Amino acid sequence: MSLTYPLTRNPQPKTPDQVASVLADPGFGNYFTDHMAVATWTADAGWTDSEIRPYGPFHIDPAGAVLHYGQEIFEGLKAYRHADGSIHLFRPEANARRLQTSAARMMLPSLEIEDFFTAVTELVTVDAHWVPDAEGEKSLYLRPFMFADEVFLGVRAAQRVTFSVIASPSGPYFAGGVKPVDIWVTDSYARAGAGGTGAAKCGGNYAASLIAQYEGYQHGCSQVLFIEASGKDRVEELGGMNVFLVTADGTLITPALTGTILEGVTRSSVLTLAGELGLTTEERQVTPDELFTGIREGRITEAFSCGTAAVVTPIGSFRTAEGEWRLPENGLPATLAIRNAILDIQYGRVADTRGWMR
Ligand code: PMP
Repeated sequence: MSLTYPLTRNPQPKTPDQVASVLADPGFGNYFTDHMAVATWTADAGWTDSEIRPYGPFHIDPAGAVLHYGQEIFEGLKAYRHADGSIHLFRPEANARRLQTSAARMMLPSLEIEDFFTAVTELVTVDAHWVPDAEGEKSLYLRPFMFADEVFLGVRAAQRVTFSVIASPSGPYFAGGVKPVDIWVTDSYARAGAGGTGAAKCGGNYAASLIAQYEGYQHGCSQVLFIEASGKDRVEELGGMNVFLVTADGTLITPALTGTILEGVTRSSVLTLAGELGLTTEERQVTPDELFTGIREGRITEAFSCGTAAVVTPIGSFRTAEGEWRLPENGLPATLAIRNAILDIQYGRVADTRGWMR
């Protein structure tokens, strides 16, 4: 049986003026729309009680399992407004599938792809006036999430779980737009290890990454690049984005998926689009040494991070306690070609020949 999400309207929605003032300069993650989607799962009844209701707090018991053991997963995708006013999601099935993968790793229940899609589309439909115009690369960021909601302190998979979707109008993730960002490379903190949860989008991964992120801030960097934990011979990904290197001969290199990296929807889209733009791609192990000497000796000419929030953001330099490796200022031909190719599809400026937009 598939879920339906009956609507309870927010009796006090934001006024058109309030919405307009938020959409003028939303930033990222600051504001939320009038409604949210919610569904409940219990071990006895499966998924029930799905609804779209006014945005507002959950009542979580102090013994609620998520508060103690962090059994929680989430997703991130965006709704884009096209020039004709219509609203489109970018590859939502990929996010629905990844939520299922994360759920399996964290012993949370599986949600049908169609039920994920219905929750997201019905929320966007009722709060459609919160989807900004394309101008300034704005969109409505959607945050589906699922957490253990059972009142029980025993350590085991929760028998009661909440799924929800909230929506947040957003501008560019990095305030500087396409200005290259500086990246702190940490080898004192790991994000994930073999057999761990790196390939799942679970809250704990992000909590664990904060200290390295702050170390990066202290060194003037806006994101942190993690190196694989045991041998420290593998570049992995950023705290909330995947990473690509571009070589002088037009090859795009990204670390292979080894179970410790999140399989980004943007990463997979970049790999597809690169081929069509005449760039070769390689998914393989990248060592920190290859990265640093490659930049120093001019073999690596561009680098960028990619993710739903950041789209494709050029990297200006990598820094460690030992030094700084600065990418040349070459006008970023590959990075900008990829970035524009993705944005053109997302904002409907070119035909969507792959069926990515829904
Ligand atoms: N890696 C991590 C750790 C992330 O949090 C994200 C953002 N979801 C990504 C990569 C990029 O994934 P996507 O392109 O699906 O947003």
